[in-house]
Amino acid sequence: MPSFAEHLQAVRATIREIGPRALVAQLAQAPITLIDVREPHEWASGIIDGALCLGRGHLESRLAELQPAADAPIVLYCAAGGRSVLAVKSLIAMGYTDVASLAGGVQGWQAAGLGLVQPGGLSHAQKVRYGRQLLLPEVGEAGQLRLLKSRVLLVGLGGLGSPVALYLAAAGVGTLGLCDGDVVDRSNLQRQIIHTTARTGQPKVESARQALQALNSDVQIEALAQHLTAANARSLVAGYDVVVDACDNFATRYLLNDACHFEKKPNIHGSIHRFTGSCTVLWTMRGGPCYRCLYPQAPAAEAFGSCSDNGVLGVLPGLVGVQQATEVLKILLEIGEPLLGRLSMVDALSGASRLLRVRRDPNCALCGNKPVLHDVQEPLDSCAVVNKSFGEV
Ligand SMILES: [Zn+2]
Repeated sequence: MPSFAEHLQAVRATIREIGPRALVAQLAQAPITLIDVREPHEWASGIIDGALCLGRGHLESRLAELQPAADAPIVLYCAAGGRSVLAVKSLIAMGYTDVASLAGGVQGWQAAGLGLVQPGGLSHAQKVRYGRQLLLPEVGEAGQLRLLKSRVLLVGLGGLGSPVALYLAAAGVGTLGLCDGDVVDRSNLQRQIIHTTARTGQPKVESARQALQALNSDVQIEALAQHLTAANARSLVAGYDVVVDACDNFATRYLLNDACHFEKKPNIHGSIHRFTGSCTVLWTMRGGPCYRCLYPQAPAAEAFGSCSDNGVLGVLPGLVGVQQATEVLKILLEIGEPLLGRLSMVDALSGASRLLRVRRDPNCALCGNKPVLHDVQEPLDSCAVVNKSFGEV
């Protein structure tokens, strides 16, 4: 039987190794999946920037969960370049074709004058990308890490959802769920700025995914090319920290409102009508009103004109969507005062903005003292709504 050293030597001869400086050069040119296969207690002394800490024990199963392509470039490293050689052999046996071991491991890396970073912190690339908001003491590295771990669901990828998605992705919100069953239409492009002429006809979630991934590869996109229904609303909402109501019809709005109430999630509501926009945070868990408190009934569509007949200036959903994105970031970072119990209204023509006080209605069918709604229900197909009068803040 060969000694361990002889076995290692024999395996090393069958795999590819890469030196520290060559790895730096490759990392500068193209993304590489860099994996630390040391034991968890070894990570505390520092890891190579951008590495995934998967360890050796569950390497194969954890890598399979990440679903890299069979020909994706992968580099493994350990402390001195021995364990990673054996791990490379295992990944090749699984069918990965472009796997290498870092020669000399972390010791070789440091001997080449290259530094390590603390695991769980921001990578160098992230410190550069988010540098302007890291400078804000209200955000800082802890806030940025919190954003990167956050999950936000956007319902609607139209005029409101476009700026919300772009700004949240740019800010480094780690996971964005995109729910929209429509396809991009040429008539959308006047205000739905996440889509492009070349992507007309594509599902909106796929068009948005392309835009967001091109903007920031830190962000995981969960594309849900479906309409919100009573059957899927609660389970969808339950999987996220914050929900953004960026939909364009009252039926979906009531359904989303009810799902957020039952799942105790904050619902960042935005809506537009001609030259007027409004934004508020509906969060019954925190004592605020729900959408039904504000608009108890959705009367017949003819009372208000149909949604698509009213027309809208393209910048207006931009104004409101940016405010919605702002509210999301405030809630995720736990800074400032959310628009809870307050409705922000902007009139694009006069330039005036107002804050109206809105309160929970004790007689609300959903969140009142004697609720009659105990689960989500298939929404009525209605566009218009009668609102109560609100007092100015
Ligand atoms: Zn209510």
